[in-house]
Amino acid sequence: MAILDEPIKEVLKVKNYINGEWVDSKGKMVDVVNPANCKVIAKVPISTTDEINAAVKAAGEAFPEWRRTPPLARVRCLLRLGELMEEHFEELSRIQTMEHGKTIDESRGETRRGIENVEVAAGIPSLMMGYNLEDIAAGIDEYVIRQPLGVFGIIGPYNFPFMVPLWFAPYAVATGNCIVLKPSSEDPISQMKIAELAEEAGIPAGVWNLVNGGRTVVSGMLDHPDIKGICFVGSTPVARDVIYNKCGQTGKRVIAQAGAKNFLLVMPDANLQNTIAACMTSFYGNAGQRCLSGANLLIVGEGLDDREYEAFCKKITNAFVDAASKIRVGYGLDESVQMGPLRDKEKKERVVGFINKGIDEKAKLRLDGRKIKLVGNWPHACFLSPTVFEDVTPDMTIAKEEIFGPVGSIIKARKFDDAIDIIHASPFGNAAAIFTNNGKLAREFQYRVQCGNIGVNIGIVAPMAFFPFSGMKDSFFGILHGQGQESVRFFTESKVVIQRWF
Ligand code: NAD
Repeated sequence: MAILDEPIKEVLKVKNYINGEWVDSKGKMVDVVNPANCKVIAKVPISTTDEINAAVKAAGEAFPEWRRTPPLARVRCLLRLGELMEEHFEELSRIQTMEHGKTIDESRGETRRGIENVEVAAGIPSLMMGYNLEDIAAGIDEYVIRQPLGVFGIIGPYNFPFMVPLWFAPYAVATGNCIVLKPSSEDPISQMKIAELAEEAGIPAGVWNLVNGGRTVVSGMLDHPDIKGICFVGSTPVARDVIYNKCGQTGKRVIAQAGAKNFLLVMPDANLQNTIAACMTSFYGNAGQRCLSGANLLIVGEGLDDREYEAFCKKITNAFVDAASKIRVGYGLDESVQMGPLRDKEKKERVVGFINKGIDEKAKLRLDGRKIKLVGNWPHACFLSPTVFEDVTPDMTIAKEEIFGPVGSIIKARKFDDAIDIIHASPFGNAAAIFTNNGKLAREFQYRVQCGNIGVNIGIVAPMAFFPFSGMKDSFFGILHGQGQESVRFFTESKVVIQRWF
């Protein structure tokens, strides 16, 4: 067991970045704790209304000039930002492991995905082009131009502290808007580092602002008349009842990506080894704290008689439990570790509450993650090992609610249609995947299932930066999605010009 060098050596003081200045907040400071070893690694401010107002003002004042800056000049700043992120790739990844708990490989994947969004946004001169048609009537031409709106607010969740804000920020800035970004106060260090790199990349003062904190900052954004739109990623109650609701009342554009409960179907003809391997990363990667995590495994017995179906369920369940029991849990800066801790003690206790509920509701506990086995000698405070329940029925709490932890529920679905009905009974619609070699069935699955991100023999359906990050039902509120071309449309408004010359 070798622990990689930790890039954070002493307790960092997280600051706000407003109008090109690093400023101390007047708000209360709270601890950021490394969940693996329980050490305080930073203090983050809970900023005040005055501070969020100052950031919005700075962004509004920077907008006219940034908007007039030619797209290629804006892109040069982003290309430089991408280069700087590459130069700091390993440091940025290790910071994520320290502030969040995920394994270093997961952090490196997150860093890569974040940088890819910067790279895709660098295509803005082409992505932002309008279109035209001459002679819509004799001698009259008509065309559409896309223009930035002004200031956007970006609010991040704790589970992907580096990547998620980058689903939006590079596109907002590339299209000529200015941003005020609020990371999760639980792991704000990555975003402080990104803002430092944005400054070094030459993004002008006021274009990229960072304000740390919680509800006060979010309310300040929602209430502010100069904020034209909000990009939010977080839990469903906040996305729907706070963000979407308030943006509707105030006429702001909104992307609100929310909670999930994802289903993976395994069909009798699926490749067992590959399916189980994909399930392990899907259910237990990021310690289950991923909106695309597998949560319910549906074993489907289409085409099997009862005896064959029972044997198939047993085979899949045993292979799943066996693989889950071998996952190496520990500090993510140990490269041999496959699963890190939960983000904090409260999140762990919440997951334990679901495990207890599963037992109360008579699901069969096949692997008990409360019996913690660690690689290395770390405090158990935030750790759980993988948990597996079998004989779960769709009406049980563990099958219905978002657990957001390393707990897998195995559910029997005798027929393909039963599986679709079970998925559709869920209020969520973020992701679903099918494991099969039957192309017709896979096509039927993709055609019918009401989820935004669909996998065929893929366990984690994370769209690349040039595709939209979708979501349906209680997993998404809005029309346009983050990333790629849809993001460009979100951050611009179309203006139609009709002209003729006498
Ligand atoms: P959260 O809703 O608790 O917090 C998200 C953000 O909102 C944070 O910045 C937080 O400070 C702020 N916030 C929290 N409560 C608030 C309130 N009452 N009023 C105003 N602001 C508030 O979510 P989280 O725990 O940070 O993240 C996990 C959730 O995010 C899970 O439900 C997960 O499924 C979801 N998520 C969804 C996606 C997606 O693309 N659909 C991606 C990642 C995470």
